[in-house]
Amino acid sequence: MNALTFHTLRMLADGEFRSGEAMARVLGVSRASVWNALHALDAHGIEIFKVRGRGYRLAEPLALLAPEKIHTALGPAAARFAVDVLDRADSTNTQLMARAAAGARSGSVLAAEWQTDGRGRRGRAWHALPGAALTFSLLWRFEQGAGFLAGLSLAVGVATMRALAQHQVKGAGLKWPNDVLWQGRKLAGMLIEMQGDMLGPSAAVIGIGLNCRMPALMLDRIDQPAVDLTAATGQVPERNRVLASLLLELERVLGVFAREGFAPFRAEWQSYDVYRDKPVKIALPDGGIVNGTAEGVADNGALLVATKSGQLRFHSGEVSLRLAA
Ligand code: ATP
Repeated sequence: MNALTFHTLRMLADGEFRSGEAMARVLGVSRASVWNALHALDAHGIEIFKVRGRGYRLAEPLALLAPEKIHTALGPAAARFAVDVLDRADSTNTQLMARAAAGARSGSVLAAEWQTDGRGRRGRAWHALPGAALTFSLLWRFEQGAGFLAGLSLAVGVATMRALAQHQVKGAGLKWPNDVLWQGRKLAGMLIEMQGDMLGPSAAVIGIGLNCRMPALMLDRIDQPAVDLTAATGQVPERNRVLASLLLELERVLGVFAREGFAPFRAEWQSYDVYRDKPVKIALPDGGIVNGTAEGVADNGALLVATKSGQLRFHSGEVSLRLAA
């Protein structure tokens, strides 16, 4: 999607008809450029209706991210966050890491309507479309060093599950270390990046991508089964409210985590574990594979796997967990 396509989408977000001519005038481009932009929306699976004499409209209106709505949904907690909503960001994690290095305060939040270069672990891409997902990052500062933050990504998974439950998501689960799956399909992913010394203090930038109403075409282009909140709940989510719920649950969990680490969340995390007692394989950084049975997680968030040579522990950094075929 290019910038013009995004601006066209914004103009149509309210679901009202706009003529190609009027859009071209406001955007300062030719009607042909508007037409190309509308075509690009269509190519992303965003449905557009055209009616002769009236113009174009989205098949469904799009509720865009709005700072005042997020503020209202946060209630009294709003003062404890500094929420910034960008139209466009390469990666909210990248941007917030830079702001963290420049001294941004704990509780800073950066959400992007359009994240152009979202990242997963180890350089993998995270896909999103404007209006179709939540892509945001939260900065949290800790007195302890980066070593203390082992297990943080699992605690973030617990917060995410709690928030999703408030939005009628039933039957979701967690895949170690921190994917949210719904009926075996990926609904949300997280990427946590750290700054600071081993001895402290440290800062974590917690990035979350959550599919809200992704066109089927986009979901199909993702190279593993994926799903959105609309399919998981049967209703289109109000993204501003979902974002606020996520922030409130993250705040609660991070407060406890800062004192006690992951241990108090271990039992709850295990109650969401979709691979528990299943045959799994672990892909190691050197290309090796370890086969075994998933046995939950340790107090520090390490994955426990029963193998022929006994129980092994894996830390999330560089390994990938998959179901054995
Ligand atoms: P690991 O188990 O190693 O974490 P992963 O496949 O879950 O593996 P991540 O780095 O967590 O990897 O996430 C990136 C991957 O998520 C991408 O390679 C892609 O397969 C998938 N993905 C990308 N965008 C989306 C999305 N919007 N919804 C669901 N899945 C996505």
